[in-house]
Amino acid sequence: VPADAAASAEGVSHNLNLYGGRKAPLSLNILLVGCGLGGLAAAHCLSQAGHRVTVFESAPAIGEVGAGIQVTPNVSRLLIRWGLGEQLSKIAVKPEAIVFRRYSTGERVGYARWGDKIEKEYGAPYVHIHRADFHKLLFDLAKDQVELKLNSTVTHIEPGPDSVSITLHTGEKFTGDLLVGADGVKSLIRTVVLGKTTNAEPTGDAAYRAVIPTELMEKDPDLKPFVDTPEMTGWMAPGRHLMAYNIRAKKLFNLVLLHPDDGSVESWTAEGSADKMRADFADFEPRVRKLLNFVSSTLKWRLMDRRPLDNWVHESGRIVLLGDACHPMLPYRAQGAAMAIEDAAVLGNLFSRVSHQSQIKPLLHAYMSLRLPRTADTQNQSRLNQHIFHLPDGPEQEKRDEAMKQAMRAELK
Ligand code: FAD
Repeated sequence: VPADAAASAEGVSHNLNLYGGRKAPLSLNILLVGCGLGGLAAAHCLSQAGHRVTVFESAPAIGEVGAGIQVTPNVSRLLIRWGLGEQLSKIAVKPEAIVFRRYSTGERVGYARWGDKIEKEYGAPYVHIHRADFHKLLFDLAKDQVELKLNSTVTHIEPGPDSVSITLHTGEKFTGDLLVGADGVKSLIRTVVLGKTTNAEPTGDAAYRAVIPTELMEKDPDLKPFVDTPEMTGWMAPGRHLMAYNIRAKKLFNLVLLHPDDGSVESWTAEGSADKMRADFADFEPRVRKLLNFVSSTLKWRLMDRRPLDNWVHESGRIVLLGDACHPMLPYRAQGAAMAIEDAAVLGNLFSRVSHQSQIKPLLHAYMSLRLPRTADTQNQSRLNQHIFHLPDGPEQEKRDEAMKQAMRAELK
């Protein structure tokens, strides 16, 4: 592996356009399973690196759930490098600040300026967008470079020393040089890589997600400021928190309500009860209760994660994992999709250098060693935020709030 590629995870993540324009001397036939945000980003990066990529997706149509997503500068930087800056700015809302509030009173306990300040500090913006818009952005980027097979569930995988084959639910078989498993938190490919089934674990939390048309909020003087000044607002409560922000040119207000998983949902994503959601957050300040009264339907997501894996590469050297398939995490640092997209960029970078079949396995190991420490740290930090955000009322919570207030006072000086 060339020294510049293996330099360090940090080095690579700050210099991901190293391979801009460089096509690998050896063009591989790559099978990629999963057309989520991670899979699409990998399809783009690997085809840009000169490979023939076929994407297999179970779903009969392409799309994402109707909710928002935070796009942090480590990802917006990549999107800009991939030529998506202008389109991103059209669909994104740039929050001016992040604000944390006490759940019961709405008192502001934390504040940090974002907007242009973040862009200056990190060289790329922090934005909020609709997941469907994000998915379309990446889909439009990848679609002309790759072959996409929808309604194609991979049911069987056969790794060999010189190639890898997959079988679909229809019985159809495909063979390639490399298989990339971007098949999400319930990954079948992970089972093959690890040689055993290890399910993701419940984190004890679930998320309600809902969007409200902001025209409803604009009629209420208590709620209008949330639209007039786009900020990300978080309310912290014992065992729960709520994050809220504008998306779609401030036409929609996105709510993510994190709370203890009551085990009532069998699927990991299901229609939730808006009334139950209102009851679960009835002790929040009046503005939150007003917001929740506008919600007519909600999705309920059981949040799963896992302890960091110690291996993402099959012993054959022909199969590798990416995104939630290998590092699902709580969304409490807004880094799940971000890490998947970074994985894609690093994989594409490394595979723009492959000139011989014998290099595939070492390149996969280089990818894993560059990415695993960073994603493991992010998984652990996301768990830590669960503890911090959800502290019960009492001395620890007071200490947390006081520390946040001190930082806020310094920021506002
Ligand atoms: P997925 O999106 O799960 O894609 C996997 C795909 O593989 C699916 O389309 C599936 O149909 C397909 N598939 C699975 N098995 C097969 C098979 N056998 N054959 C064919 N196809 C198959 N991340 C952020 O960066 N920022 C945020 O603000 C953020 N907020 C979040 C809020 C919540 C409430 C939650 C739950 C998550 C959030 N995340 C966030 C995390 C983010 O959504 C995920 O990490 C990301 O979507 C994972 O992408 P992926 O491509 O790895 O997997």
